[in-house]
Amino acid sequence: MAYRSRVGVDVKVGFIGLGAMGLPMAKRILGAGHETFTTFHRRREPADELAMLGAHVLGSPADVARSSDIVITILPADRELKETVLGDDGVLQGLSAGQVLIDMTTATALTMQEIEQALRAAGGEVLDAPVSGGTPAAAEGSLTIMVGGDARLLERCRPVLESMGKQIVHVGGVGQGKVVKMVNQMMAAAHLLILGEAFALGARCGADPHMLYEVVKTSSGYSRMMDLRLPGFLLEGAVAPGFRLDLMKKDINLALESGRALNIPLLLTSAVGQLFSAASAAGNGDADFSAAAQFVADLAQVRLDEVPPAAGSNR
Ligand code: NAD
Repeated sequence: MAYRSRVGVDVKVGFIGLGAMGLPMAKRILGAGHETFTTFHRRREPADELAMLGAHVLGSPADVARSSDIVITILPADRELKETVLGDDGVLQGLSAGQVLIDMTTATALTMQEIEQALRAAGGEVLDAPVSGGTPAAAEGSLTIMVGGDARLLERCRPVLESMGKQIVHVGGVGQGKVVKMVNQMMAAAHLLILGEAFALGARCGADPHMLYEVVKTSSGYSRMMDLRLPGFLLEGAVAPGFRLDLMKKDINLALESGRALNIPLLLTSAVGQLFSAASAAGNGDADFSAAAQFVADLAQVRLDEVPPAAGSNR
């Protein structure tokens, strides 16, 4: 059934990629009253969890596409996205004219444009719609969604997007969503690492990280990363994701590759990339990405979840 002819809660939504973000987002879609179709990859449990809430679990992305008006994907990166959309039994094989793919993966603009070409040739339409806000915003339906693609198509899909996000912004053509997300990730990663470095120095000088948080929160050094990753993560020594460190490493590498392709120096981002690589190589790849800030603090022998000894004393 073509989405063109359907509006409101009658829209059938396919949802592929039930990970840390995808599962809570798919629950929001179901909660908004949309008949929802999904499939699974390796682990069946998240699909079973969604089935308990009323979703239909099908055998492949192609089957999901055959049953849906709109297919949403949120996968780890380019490779998985291409496999799921363009590969054997992929979305493209089940697609018919008028259907819409909304991809919410953090991937490259190039892959997004390749996918758009392939789907357009089959009569489909594409929105490029990466997200920001993390797993709490995914659960609350308060994500920021940066949308690349046709503005009228966005308006037609807005009701579905509104079940997952609050700030839904049209940022240009297909691929521009990925560009905006890349910029956000460069900044988020740098904010996180400077937090680790600056707090480690502060702690070695005798400042309590909790006190630093309280004071910097209303000072010029503040970034939202402090609210997102000090309580619940760094100040408690908790590393369960959240957002996996290897996914942030992937995002920084996307920015570095773009910089190389365009001959644009990215001096700070290069250092950030090396630190994420080192933190991953040290065994933190599947931990929350905040582990990279603790990795930096470890270089100064500081644990951000401990109150430091008074300045001048030997640790
Ligand atoms: P995740 O690793 O938790 O989940 C990815 C999901 O994709 C897994 O369930 C996996 O089984 C599934 N998958 C992989 N290959 C598949 C395939 N071929 N077919 C079907 N399913 C497949 O990752 P996540 O944290 O949910 O992140 C997903 C995307 O969203 C990434 O691009 C990430 O960079 C981005 N993102 C994550 C966050 C966050 O806080 N976690 C925030 C914003 C954006």
